[in-house]
Amino acid sequence: MITSEENLLLLLVVSAPFFGSFISTLLIRLERKKSILKPIFSTCQNCDQRLLLKHKLPILSYIILKGSCYRCKTPISSIYIMLETGFFISTSLAILILFNESIDKILFTIFLAWIFLPLSVFDIQQQRLPDLVTIPLACAGLLQGYFLPYVTFFDCLLGFILGFVLSAVVSILYSKLRGRTGLGWGDVKLITAVGALIGWQLVPWFIFLASTSALLYVILQIIIRGGQAGKERIPFGPFLCGCSWLVWIYSIS
Ligand SMILES: [Zn+2]
Repeated sequence: MITSEENLLLLLVVSAPFFGSFISTLLIRLERKKSILKPIFSTCQNCDQRLLLKHKLPILSYIILKGSCYRCKTPISSIYIMLETGFFISTSLAILILFNESIDKILFTIFLAWIFLPLSVFDIQQQRLPDLVTIPLACAGLLQGYFLPYVTFFDCLLGFILGFVLSAVVSILYSKLRGRTGLGWGDVKLITAVGALIGWQLVPWFIFLASTSALLYVILQIIIRGGQAGKERIPFGPFLCGCSWLVWIYSIS
């Protein structure tokens, strides 16, 4: 007998790639400074040909079309496959890892993944993290501390303060010493928001994990592409988002 909660989770797994596809369209239109509302139906980003129903199936259509438009053969943005699979995998992972936990823990974890994934892609696209997401995320972090029983509100508040102080000090010191921005204010706001989410005890670990993973990525790029790769500016948002999701799961499981 499948319970209504299991039905809801199954619905989320099935709908996750469709939602990822919808968010991809919005992000691509935002980057190209096009209206996010029009056209209502999906079209090719190059020839504006309206997509057929069989070309709108997340993941499957990308594979069938071999990643290019069925009419003009222009490559489809890789954001689609990244977010469609990302939404599907993160939703499935949250359910599998937290299967024996309460439904509200699972739903909030899926909600965070569905915020962090587009935020990471936005940072890769535009090299910035919008206040429109980071500030409400900080509010959501504090509110869950008040209403949900995982991290106490006091720990969340201290996490908010510690996240802000640590990242702001690093950002200011780096700018003064190197004469350029290392850690942007968008990153500072995201670290502050995550601090409010996970509580102060895990903030140093979260920053350590995110910094280490970003450093490993740079080293890997230098090994693959040579020394020039080390001079390029890399967006820190995806590392912060990925690590904060993992630390959040650790904190509640
Ligand atoms: Zn086309």
